[in-house]
Amino acid sequence: MATPSIRRRIERRWKCASFDHYGLTESGWGCGVECRTREGCHVREMDVLVEVVDPNGKILPEGEWGEIVITMLRRASSPLIRYRTGDEGRILPGRCRCGSPLKRIEVLGRLPRKGAGGVPLRLHDVENSLWDLPLVDDFRLSLEYDGNAPEALVLTLAMTDHSEGILESVLQSLRKIPGIPEKITVKIETVGTLSHGRPKRDWNN
Ligand SMILES: [Zn+2]
Repeated sequence: MATPSIRRRIERRWKCASFDHYGLTESGWGCGVECRTREGCHVREMDVLVEVVDPNGKILPEGEWGEIVITMLRRASSPLIRYRTGDEGRILPGRCRCGSPLKRIEVLGRLPRKGAGGVPLRLHDVENSLWDLPLVDDFRLSLEYDGNAPEALVLTLAMTDHSEGILESVLQSLRKIPGIPEKITVKIETVGTLSHGRPKRDWNN
């Protein structure tokens, strides 16, 4: 899945429409994709059953946010039963305007972590805020903990332009995010030197 800000950036630069997709390695990459109305990803319901659960595993009704769990029974080698994805999402109520009866999901990405003051901190919010800044080309995020509470956000930034004041605007945007730690450490790298160990963005990647 992609944040609204990176979608806007892609659409502006490539002069195209973007269609969001949700999948994970364990589901063979596929799970859901947007249709032309772009109001949630239609689930490939012939292959995968998507449900949303609370922290105790109780199934939540449509519209409520929780953890996405998937069931795939047709795979002979590795069937999945209510497999916990670690991703936060919800099933959108009602039928899509495109007319398809296929269930739609909205996924925010990794489940929130406990942020400053016990407020949930979402990677999605941090990503969305950073991609909204045109000079930010790439980044990596991690959290430093003091016991149970996050003490600092460590941000490695790749930027093409290092003009004065840019860093301040990055910090200003980040400080608006719920649960963000008071201390933010920023390391700057040049574009091309910042690498990611895995294709999916996550904390520490
Ligand atoms: Zn649709």
